[in-house]
Amino acid sequence: MKTTRKLKLTIIGDEETRKEQYKIIREEQYQQYKALNLCMTLLNTHNILNSYNTGAENKLNAQIDSIDKKIEKAKKELEKKGLKESKVSKLKETIEFLENDREKLKDEYLNSSKFRSDIDEKMKEMYIKDMYTVVQNQVNFRARDMMSLVTQRARKDFKNSLKNGMAKGERSLTNYKRDFPLMTRGERWLKFEYDKDSDDILINWIHGIKFKVLLGYKKNENSIELRHTLHKVINKEYKICDSSMQFDRNNNLILNLTLDIPDKQNNNYIEKRTLGVDLGIKYPAYVCLNDDTYIGESLELLKQREQFKDRRKRLQQQLKNVKGGKGRNKKLSALNKLSDNERNFARTYNHMISKRIVEFAKKNRCEFINLEKLTKDGFDNNILSNWSYYELQNMIEYKAKREGIKVRYIDPAYTSQKCSRCGYIDKENRQTQEKFKCLKCEFEINADHNAAINIARALD
Ligand SMILES: [Zn+2]
Repeated sequence: MKTTRKLKLTIIGDEETRKEQYKIIREEQYQQYKALNLCMTLLNTHNILNSYNTGAENKLNAQIDSIDKKIEKAKKELEKKGLKESKVSKLKETIEFLENDREKLKDEYLNSSKFRSDIDEKMKEMYIKDMYTVVQNQVNFRARDMMSLVTQRARKDFKNSLKNGMAKGERSLTNYKRDFPLMTRGERWLKFEYDKDSDDILINWIHGIKFKVLLGYKKNENSIELRHTLHKVINKEYKICDSSMQFDRNNNLILNLTLDIPDKQNNNYIEKRTLGVDLGIKYPAYVCLNDDTYIGESLELLKQREQFKDRRKRLQQQLKNVKGGKGRNKKLSALNKLSDNERNFARTYNHMISKRIVEFAKKNRCEFINLEKLTKDGFDNNILSNWSYYELQNMIEYKAKREGIKVRYIDPAYTSQKCSRCGYIDKENRQTQEKFKCLKCEFEINADHNAAINIARALD
């Protein structure tokens, strides 16, 4: 499980050394900014040339196809009985003429594709295989490893921007800003240790630079928790991954430390105890246990409730307009249609709900969390339709995994129509959005609570 912590750092040393070393970091950051944008340009140029040639071939291919169809039609005509002599010779002539044309186009096609593969090889050599060399000649990194960090990063970002629709001209190329965080290797470059004379935590970086971690004067909860985390880093319980550093608005040096934290073993669960989660319209989520259905509650986000109400409505509208499909790409493009602002809101919202759900499961010592499987059409009436629900599933899954709780998906059919007491299924059981009353046994309960019970028990 990967997680990132922000650490405020200061360089240790006399004034002159510190000044010199801060300058090294800023200069390296500047070189990285140049290199990243250069890589992006190279990757894009190659891509454009490549798709231009493919386009020409596609056109030829389409022409050949249409001639093939004409030939087939003429041949069928020829098979008909009782044709006049003059008609037969006319048809034969046409076929010959078409086949001639076809040969010419076929030649053109082969030439073009050979030309493309030749050019492609050269391009690959220039822009892909030798991207490393091309870029290295234009920038001046102090640390040799920076080049591979940069090319890796640019390739990854380029691939993502293609996936997200740049190919269709919908998204622009990644443009790295001047203050893009300086990438740093993990374990090899960031060596944590305790100061011998105090309880300060120090980091030995490359270029002989030594940092002190500023944990704050106040021993508040956050700094205690952070110290605890760093203790595990020093003890090698947590693995340090590739990370980055940057200067914040106040010119403080911040390390974005990425750690790989082993998943917790959940030994504390009650066997087969399951939390059912019903994601609702009125409340974000209703949760309930399978073996004690009285323990359940609607998870509300109290503080933000007013603010959320409004934006949920708007988001709901927007999500309605983007019909979600099965494919991941479709979902992604649906997400792209939301404004950045709304997307951030949806993400924050999902973070909060998923956190509450997993906390509830942990508090009640659950072995499993049951969620409704996202159907092909999504949940039309739900604020969390389509992409957003998909994102929420992912969040619940990884947060649960961190606590050693397993997530299972259940078939959502009838969860809201089935009576959780006698099992009778009827659309009319759900009388209003909020009220459930069984037509058979007259059991009455909050409709979301009823659904949550069914979801919790679905695999019992
Ligand atoms: Zn009933």
